[in-house]
Amino acid sequence: MQSKILTHVIAGAGAAGFFGAIKCAQNNPNDRVIIIEKTRQPLAKVRISGGGRCNVTHSCFDPAQLVKNYPRGGKELRGPFTRFQPRDTIEWFESRGVTLKTEEDGRMFPVSDSSETIIHCLQQEAKKCGVEVRLESGIQEINKIENQFQLILSNEEVVACDRLLMATGSASKMLSLVQTLGHSIIPQVPSLFTFNVPTSPLLDLAGISVPYVHLRIPSISLEQTGPLLITHWGFSGPAVLKLSAWGARELQGLDYKTSFIINWLPDYSEEELKQIILRFKESQLNKNIGTDVPVELPKQLWRRILQLSEIDMEQRWAALSKKQLTNLITQLRMGTFQIDGKTTYKQEFVTCGGVKLDEVDFKTMQSRRCPGLFFAGEILDIDGITGGFNFQNAWTTGWIAGQSM
Ligand SMILES: Cc1cc2nc3c(=O)[nH]c(=O)nc-3n(C[C@H](O)[C@H](O)[C@H](O)COP(=O)(O)OP(=O)(O)OC[C@H]3O[C@@H](n4cnc5c(N)ncnc54)[C@H](O)[C@@H]3O)c2cc1C
Repeated sequence: MQSKILTHVIAGAGAAGFFGAIKCAQNNPNDRVIIIEKTRQPLAKVRISGGGRCNVTHSCFDPAQLVKNYPRGGKELRGPFTRFQPRDTIEWFESRGVTLKTEEDGRMFPVSDSSETIIHCLQQEAKKCGVEVRLESGIQEINKIENQFQLILSNEEVVACDRLLMATGSASKMLSLVQTLGHSIIPQVPSLFTFNVPTSPLLDLAGISVPYVHLRIPSISLEQTGPLLITHWGFSGPAVLKLSAWGARELQGLDYKTSFIINWLPDYSEEELKQIILRFKESQLNKNIGTDVPVELPKQLWRRILQLSEIDMEQRWAALSKKQLTNLITQLRMGTFQIDGKTTYKQEFVTCGGVKLDEVDFKTMQSRRCPGLFFAGEILDIDGITGGFNFQNAWTTGWIAGQSM
């Protein structure tokens, strides 16, 4: 007996949608697999991602470690990552002729350094598997009629399907439609942004970076370490981005206004730092304090920290008073700055919030509320820190959804 030919619709031609559609079409070569996309440009975010290079994934191959990079969704992704993780992503692209390379910080890019390589690969593969892609067809309405879904498109066309994968990213209109199918939505807020610090005395040092600092936001008890970049509007760099992701909701609650503390030299205790400075003082008694730097900090930053500690750069080391030493150590370990607003990080920007996770079965990515409905990618209340983790979420959940559909 011949089995019934099913129609699978994938809403959204992004990373998650393409990955899901390809897997679904490979597993069900006799069925119809259609991607329905609102805009005229599929994979638009892939194109602009990673500054046009597409940070495809991260070289982290232990699911237990990998999930630590997701402020929301880590627990739920633990199982899915045992089935499809960065190693599988690398193999998937490699076996289709796209080699990825790893940068020093673990981020992985195509060797071509061009997101077009990824787009071309996904489009070719979809074509090969017989996936239909319909562009400029925004989904306006979704109705569940018995075991089928009825989609009403912007051109008033009606499409019926047996299985529906929602991979529409952060589009809020789609979240409202998903709500009508019985799902709860966690409100959306931005994640991965840089801090505006208009009163920072370091703004004119924009471009200077320090490889390892400790950042703390006392009002929300959050801290992070990593590289820091001074910008002409405040601060950026991995340490700030990680803090913005982990504190996305709390910072929004504070209207992005709160103070934070920088320890510029977190490898030393207060006493160790004091001893380093005193030893340096003894060896340089007749030299000006601003001439040579006793610690691993850029000279311009050191000189600014001296100013903030009310120490004249022309002063001799011999004249360094106890009070000045205390001030200096406070500035080095507890420099306090006032965040007043945020700036979107253009390299990688995501929203947290979306479909509530306990309403989805992560073994299949199928809805627990509405049989036949699946989810993948950023539409879920999942987001990662910067570094390729957001695409990995899209590949993993897309692949599992496609497999289960
Ligand atoms: C500038 C930028 C750079 C980034 N760089 C990186 C990076 O280097 N590495 C990384 O891991 N992450 C990066 N990200 C995050 C990453 O792009 C997203 O996490 C990822 O694209 C999510 O994939 P998705 O398929 O879930 O959603 P999307 O890529 O957003 O795709 C959703 C699709 O659904 C379509 N859609 C919306 N509404 C409808 C509708 N009504 N009907 C039909 N279709 C609809 C949209 O037009 C879109 O094409 C970046 C994000 C940005 C904005």
